[in-house]
Amino acid sequence: MTVSTQNTHIATDFEIVIGLEVHSQLLTKSKMFCGCSTDYANAAPNTHVCPVCMGMPGVLPVINQRAVDYTIMTALALNCTIPEYSKFDRKNYPYPDLMKGYQISQYDIPLKIRPASCTIVATAWWTSIARARL
Ligand SMILES: [Zn+2]
Repeated sequence: MTVSTQNTHIATDFEIVIGLEVHSQLLTKSKMFCGCSTDYANAAPNTHVCPVCMGMPGVLPVINQRAVDYTIMTALALNCTIPEYSKFDRKNYPYPDLMKGYQISQYDIPLKIRPASCTIVATAWWTSIARARL
């Protein structure tokens, strides 16, 4: 491979691979793991919260069925494979805007995975979707 930097070409054995993590927000009426409203854009701080949102001890999250539906619709639009089994992972870490100290997300078994034969060409760059998580 030859890498060009303006008028300089440098031969290298490396292949440039760029990964992007793209986030989007599903237009659900309630949050992902509780019934709290997502209409918080113009709401006063901490008015759309509950014990689940705050990660209080003893509470259990309940998945938002509409979010699952939207995710599967996205998977179908992207020609992704939808596994029969999916799971969530709880990642514990401190972060200034994550007061409960953990995040629930998907990693190795997301709701949709790499499409078997789907490759998207965008402006001469070959891209593919490795996985899409809820
Ligand atoms: Zn809540």
